[in-house]
Amino acid sequence: MKVWQEISAQIASTTHNQFLVEKSVLLGGGCINRAYCISGNDQRYFLKLNTPDSLTMFEAEATGLMEIFQSQTLHVPMPICYGQNAEFAWLVLEFISLGSGNRDSATKLGLQLAAMHRTTSKHFGWIRDNTIGKTPQINTPSANWLEFWRTQRLGYQLKLAKVNGFRGKLQTLGERLLDNLDKLLTSSPIPSLLHGDLWSGNYAFDNINDPVIFDPAVYYGDREADIAMTELFGGFPADFYSAYRHDYPLDSGYNIRRIVYNLYHILNHLNLFGGSYGHQAEQMINFLLAEIR
Ligand code: ADP
Repeated sequence: MKVWQEISAQIASTTHNQFLVEKSVLLGGGCINRAYCISGNDQRYFLKLNTPDSLTMFEAEATGLMEIFQSQTLHVPMPICYGQNAEFAWLVLEFISLGSGNRDSATKLGLQLAAMHRTTSKHFGWIRDNTIGKTPQINTPSANWLEFWRTQRLGYQLKLAKVNGFRGKLQTLGERLLDNLDKLLTSSPIPSLLHGDLWSGNYAFDNINDPVIFDPAVYYGDREADIAMTELFGGFPADFYSAYRHDYPLDSGYNIRRIVYNLYHILNHLNLFGGSYGHQAEQMINFLLAEIR
């Protein structure tokens, strides 16, 4: 395939090492892209391949990985290069050999995530927009977390849901929730560096049992939004939560805010996959509205 030659040439010019793909192995596990382990000249890389319009998504992912790398808190794959031709866009990352972790790995993940969350910014948002799944994620900097979550997170997904045909009850309930959000988001968080899409498929342990995180949707926000998402699909190990909470306790009222934060991901799943996520979103909103009555 011509694309292998183009990717090989780009890797070689970025790393200043000779490189030609000799072997490519299609890997499972990704939700959005086709992932390969490509190797040659005694080197190995992790490659994500998608349609040409995915270039901006890959560029944002590479920038997000660098932001986390620069925080020197959690291991992420180093981005090598990204590019595009008429048929494909690609992102090349350092290949990380994964292991199953040992008895300290989940504790390390909790402590390192707490350290990452202590990396802060002046504003909520980020230097650029990115994507959550394939959905655009708006990160216009804001000094006001409530407004940020209202407009750039829940409001954005609700508008998208309307465009996607999810009207009626979901929209009426959603509007009521947005109007009353100040009664639910009452804490004053600081803008912490967030992974942004921290479900159980986006962390692992490397071959020396250290935690690694993948596929971020980086922005600066309330750290509870990251913790909430770890609880959404499958959950993280108990040692992770005890280490994190011991090192960086959560504010009171987290159990309610967790639903406000996870609603964003459920609305995003509705927009990406449809199905029963609409019903789940309505149930979550009803629960939250009952809290403020
Ligand atoms: P997608 O963007 O398609 O969702 P991910 O970045 O989530 O893909 O990667 C899918 C899986 O591939 C991850 O869950 C992880 O197991 C593995 N993976 C991701 N990046 C690397 C890497 N750099 N080296 C080795 N394995 C990786």
